[in-house]
Amino acid sequence: MVEQLQSLRGMVDLLPAATARWQALEATAREHFRRAGVVEIRTPLLEATELFARGIGEATDVVGKEMYSFIDRGERSCTLRPEGTAGVVRAALQHGLLSQGPQRLWYGGPMFRYERPQGGRQRQFHQIGLECLGFADPRSDVEAIAIAWDLLAALGLQELTLEINSLGTPGDRRRYRERLVAWLEQHQAGLDPDSQQRLQTNPLRILDSKNTDTQRLLADAPQLADSLDPASRDRFEQVLAGLRQLQIPAVTNPRLVRGLDYYGHTAFEITSGALGAQATVCGGGRYDGLVEQLGGPPTACIGWALGLERLLILQERSGTAAAPGAPDAYLVSQGDAAGPLAVVLARDLRRQGLAVELDLSGAGFGKQLKRADRSGARWAVLLGDREAEDGTVRLKDLRQAADGGDAAVPQADLAARLRSAGG
Ligand code: ATP
Ligand code: MG
Repeated sequence: MVEQLQSLRGMVDLLPAATARWQALEATAREHFRRAGVVEIRTPLLEATELFARGIGEATDVVGKEMYSFIDRGERSCTLRPEGTAGVVRAALQHGLLSQGPQRLWYGGPMFRYERPQGGRQRQFHQIGLECLGFADPRSDVEAIAIAWDLLAALGLQELTLEINSLGTPGDRRRYRERLVAWLEQHQAGLDPDSQQRLQTNPLRILDSKNTDTQRLLADAPQLADSLDPASRDRFEQVLAGLRQLQIPAVTNPRLVRGLDYYGHTAFEITSGALGAQATVCGGGRYDGLVEQLGGPPTACIGWALGLERLLILQERSGTAAAPGAPDAYLVSQGDAAGPLAVVLARDLRRQGLAVELDLSGAGFGKQLKRADRSGARWAVLLGDREAEDGTVRLKDLRQAADGGDAAVPQADLAARLRSAGG
């Protein structure tokens, strides 16, 4: 026996039973972007490693530990994208989109991070994201957050919380970093090993530690809010006021920092009480420095990304997952003339917009009809040699009791009949 191969760890197959729900989710997202004047951009899954090293920051977990990088046949270091923003900014610069004015863009697709797989955490996972390039006004923060919030609400998610913080300007963060490091050095013994290491590399990320002892210790640490200059504070107040105006409840979380180094001013996460440990379903913020960091002109930007796997887990828990689509009709046939004609008839109905499942088993009518029942279709269309000769079919309502019988319908009228009867 030949050994069966398995998918790689953390790489998940999406089976037919799940794809209808994914498509429904994607369709809702697409519609929300359309209404908000956001257009789609598609960038490669594979980019130069340097893009992420420069864009996201060498000292972040994503770049430091989680990237799928390899050397290709041309000796270039390539990386499977761990997130979407850096690629979108690279593409916008490469193709001069920014010289055509501000851009509201969205993207969707797989992302890759070498993490320990667990519920809601995979190595290939999927995101949908929004990137607004060339928007500095605090109202653009509010608009971007509102698009995410309304999308999540439209998807039926409950128990959502918006946590928000201001990371201020690079100067604000530099001042804060000094105060934080000075304080942490006095409390170093109480920090988990990971955080002790970050003290040298990326101290702000310690605030994001998932270690409970470290979190308890941090309750008394200096807060970023106290290092913000008045202009940064005022900007943050405007964002909060805008959210209040839209009745989006925001909880200020002074310890919220995002895992990617490019964020400044507004940073936010939307979490769900229903998700347990992997609580964050959407994360984002302002990244005014990134375009310049990647070789472009100074450009103010705000964006977010949604994790689709976590979104679907939440939808399931809220009982709002869409039902998989069933065909309009299931076509059953038997006989030398009927068999080939069934293929013609199915194609004809499909050309008229109907969803038709064609039974190709060659089994008896009884067995085929059982499968018709299981298909979820409203109608079974029965075709035997007699009907083939008459130019008719028999139509059976599968939602009627067993003795509902069937009606002879001219083949030419079938599409209209199926449509008028509805699903
Ligand atoms: P976490 O703190 O949970 O690791 P993150 O800060 O690394 O999240 P982001 O980089 O902000 O996540 O990505 C945005 C969203 O993408 C997350 O809120 C989450 O829903 C999803 N996400 C991130 N990493 C994974 C993963 N490995 N598997 C599944 N979804 C993920
Ligand atoms: Mg992460």
